[in-house]
Amino acid sequence: MNQTAVLGFPRIGEKRELKTALENYWKGNTSLNELTDVASELRLKHWNLQRNAGIKTVAVNDFSFYDNTLDLMVALGAQPERFRDIADETQHYFTMARGDETHTAMEMTKWFNTNYHTIVPELHKTFEFGAINAKKILGEFKEAKDNGFQGSIQLIGPITFLGLSRCDKEVTLALFDPLLGQYNKLLGAIIALDKNVEIVMHEPSLSIGIDTQVLSLLKIAYERLGTLSQNLSVATYFEHSCEATAVLVHTPIKGLVLDFVHGVKNSDSLESLGKSDKHVTIGIIDGRNVWKNNLQQSLKTLEYIETYIPKERLTIGVSCSLLHVPYSLKHEENLDTNVKELLAFAQEKLDELSLLGKAFFSHETIPFPSHPKAAVDEAVQNRLGALNPNDFKRSHPFSVRQMSARDTFDLPPLPTTTIGSFPQTAEVRKVRQEFKKGLISKETYEETMKKMIASCVAFQESIDLDVLVHGEFERNDMVEYFGEQLNGFAFSQNGWVQSYGSRCVKPPLLYGDVSRPHPMTLNWSLYAQSLTDRPMKGMLTGPVTILNWSFVRDDQPRSVTAMQIALAIRDEVNDLQRAGITMIQVDEAAFKEGYPLRRENRSAYEKWALESFLLSTAVADKETQIHTHMCYSEFTDIIKTIEAMDADVISIETSRSGNRLLQIFKETGYTQEVGPGVYDIHSPRIPSVEEMEQQIYLLLEVLPSSQLWINPDCGLKTRGWSETEAALRNMVEATKAVRETL
Ligand code: GLN
Ligand code: ZN
Repeated sequence: MNQTAVLGFPRIGEKRELKTALENYWKGNTSLNELTDVASELRLKHWNLQRNAGIKTVAVNDFSFYDNTLDLMVALGAQPERFRDIADETQHYFTMARGDETHTAMEMTKWFNTNYHTIVPELHKTFEFGAINAKKILGEFKEAKDNGFQGSIQLIGPITFLGLSRCDKEVTLALFDPLLGQYNKLLGAIIALDKNVEIVMHEPSLSIGIDTQVLSLLKIAYERLGTLSQNLSVATYFEHSCEATAVLVHTPIKGLVLDFVHGVKNSDSLESLGKSDKHVTIGIIDGRNVWKNNLQQSLKTLEYIETYIPKERLTIGVSCSLLHVPYSLKHEENLDTNVKELLAFAQEKLDELSLLGKAFFSHETIPFPSHPKAAVDEAVQNRLGALNPNDFKRSHPFSVRQMSARDTFDLPPLPTTTIGSFPQTAEVRKVRQEFKKGLISKETYEETMKKMIASCVAFQESIDLDVLVHGEFERNDMVEYFGEQLNGFAFSQNGWVQSYGSRCVKPPLLYGDVSRPHPMTLNWSLYAQSLTDRPMKGMLTGPVTILNWSFVRDDQPRSVTAMQIALAIRDEVNDLQRAGITMIQVDEAAFKEGYPLRRENRSAYEKWALESFLLSTAVADKETQIHTHMCYSEFTDIIKTIEAMDADVISIETSRSGNRLLQIFKETGYTQEVGPGVYDIHSPRIPSVEEMEQQIYLLLEVLPSSQLWINPDCGLKTRGWSETEAALRNMVEATKAVRETL
């Protein structure tokens, strides 16, 4: 007996084969058969890897051509009505995902606290489900079987499906029964094929803390589904799900899969699990992070769990699908061995699972490799230890700083500016890549960048913007650029993880103590400032965003790592102001997405996230104006934290939601200055002068002109130059027209 299982494997492939195959197919370069062949090869390969690691029942239906929630919509007959005119099955599927000339694509949402984006079901109160379609699920199950694998079918469960749809209570209640009916039919079709088939229902929604009404729906759902199949488990992850477990142990399901990495509080359920007849899969290999498992410690945890639940009822597993980690370390020839030593990607995690399984289930002693430790940087540790409360507090209150800024910068009312980046054209990318590959010299690279900065500055002056930026041409990405220059970060060659559809990202690996060996932005900012008399905004990424968009070490609390990054950014802020750059933007684009899934953990996060922002910016003198930028507009529940960040100016995304969202700033008596985006940079559309004037007047209904800045929604890097020029020109013109009337 050696019971191990996974909830899914990265489907994009070792070399992102699925990405290539999909994109070729979308371009019309390859046939559907070629695409499905690639898919089938990938599935077989991934099942083989699982089997080689001793996993007897491999994950099936974790594969998807685009997204598992979308697949489920097809399976349940839950496709939105607006796509039902498309007869061809494949075209229908990809049009829902990507849109076409006549259909806008379906919306996406973050898959809980990961960077994977899933498609949002479009449901409404009178939604009518179509016929169920079990073809994909049964096909993949048979494919596994024909190749000698026993498959465990992975499906998103009804509570999570409804949760993702963002329906209100009324719609949820109206649709619950018909939805369950569809699940019933779908499971019926699966069981007809093989009545013993193992089915795992993914219900991460149960981990975010659910109310009694949802708990009662949960009970109804799994009373029914658990009766239908004798081999059905419910998987929760990313947090504990104790409330749900208390309900589920009294339903006829066979087992539960629980996250013991990110939901250690699941151990509170051990007693009731032990008393029940349920089988429990212990998710102990981290599916969300890239570090080696501390096998010795995991074995101890398992032995502790065994004091409650007998071995026969235990399986060892992953905390969540391995979808969220890169594929394999095999191709990382360039990684420093000390860093590589710390890592385990999906394939290596299978090996860890296998080793742990052997150690736990067999009675021999398995020698574990010793658990590696990241090197300690004493200087960083000492500096952190020596911080005092003043390091987190600006020397003067906002009112004093605001007077000083009015003196120093002498800006007109409603000052105009941008969020930082200007179009990243093919030329910009090419130059950066050539430099990275060593094809051009440092001198040539810097000269080319300077030319781009100079023309960007000249353009901004020509349209009479008040506060300028250098354009961020040197940055491939707002986190990677800083990570590459900081100690404690490493970059993989092939560490891709799926973000959505065929899109993958390669997050930095934050493995050790963070420090800044040299200034990171100073020279670019100084050069840009040398070209103009107008204020040049320095442009930095904040500690919380750097943290939230990296794979972060797990051997110390995230809060400590955040403070280390904050110190590095603080040094940069100080260098910039000493050199005369006294308007500095510290972007916290990912501040909100770092919020914990569970409400009860929020205040702890808010505390350290806030402190790390303050630590990075409070070094600013009275004369230095600190800006920040956040990529969203829902501030209602976090406004007090935003205010406490004490930025002199905050720019936010509001153009798509009008001035409604600005109300909160007024209602709470927010005093600092605000730059609500006046146009949407996510579309190439050029808003007219009149339209933006209207928008500014709307803003003025809420906040006084003395508190308002005028800027676009976000950075312009994804836009082309022609639309950028036109839109910014209109923005400045609109602002001037409004100023006349003040
Ligand atoms: N300064 C960054 C830019 O303009 C901010 C990007 C972001 O908020 N995502 O690109
Ligand atoms: Zn933004």
